Amino acid sequence: MEIVKTIRELREWRGNLRGDLGLVPTMGFLHEGHLSLVRHALAQNPHAAVSIFVNPTQFAPDEDLDSYPRDLQRDVDLLKAKGCHLLFAPPPSEVYPEGFQTRVEVAELSKPLEGVRRPTHFQGVATVVMKLFGIFQPTRAYFGQKDAQQLALIRRMARDLNLPIQIVGCPIIREPDGLAMSSRNAYLTPAQRAAAPVLHRALLAARTLWLQGEKSAESLRRTMRQTIETEPLVRLDYATVADPETLAELGTAPQGALLALAAFLDKTRLIDNMVL
Ligand code: AMP
Repeated sequence: MEIVKTIRELREWRGNLRGDLGLVPTMGFLHEGHLSLVRHALAQNPHAAVSIFVNPTQFAPDEDLDSYPRDLQRDVDLLKAKGCHLLFAPPPSEVYPEGFQTRVEVAELSKPLEGVRRPTHFQGVATVVMKLFGIFQPTRAYFGQKDAQQLALIRRMARDLNLPIQIVGCPIIREPDGLAMSSRNAYLTPAQRAAAPVLHRALLAARTLWLQGEKSAESLRRTMRQTIETEPLVRLDYATVADPETLAELGTAPQGALLALAAFLDKTRLIDNMVL
């Protein structure tokens, strides 16, 4: 596996490639969720590349940029074992040189759900993903359904800006007890870790209700809220039933509707979702 830290080296590698390239953008501290994206990329392309970049512009000043978990050597070993062809791990100065001033904004999809508490987050995400697309010029790019709003927003951006890149969404990978894998799970204390699967249980409870014929979004939201309230260590931020593409809040839930929630365990904020 090639490991490169500069855009110049990356372009050199890219220039010598023949055939399709699959790109998996990440912030590192890799787990099975990330590795499943790499598997999809390798299955659909002769070449697969991963980027690891903890993107400062998608963190607000009061968020966890400095404490975000990092372990590059471990990530390198995992990617080598998977058969990944290239890792791009640039320093922030390589991505945002002096004078950088261009931003990509996906206006409406940035506002609801995560955007309420994190108003600048998706501008940072869209900008860095657009840069990675420009740097790599991949054939396909792989994103997890775990970050459903991010996936919807990247799909919209690719369509709006006519990018010749296929955006591939991949299913959520979970721990055996249902907790969606996330680098941020590393922040949880043992007691919080034991409580965290309630996010998944809340989604399952709403889905069960829906399968039994309850189509009122308010009822589904109430069920998610009530399930979360059974865990004293978990504080709900939002629970929503939304259109998976526009993210508009729904009154009734058709098949394909997105159940999405976010919750705090002390300062750690986790998200999860499920498509009906
Ligand atoms: P991150 O490193 O958190 O920015 O995530 C990088 C990519 O991995 C994003 O497209 C995420 O949606 C995806 N991802 C993170 N966790 C999971 C998971 N549990 N299952 C599937 N994909 C995931």
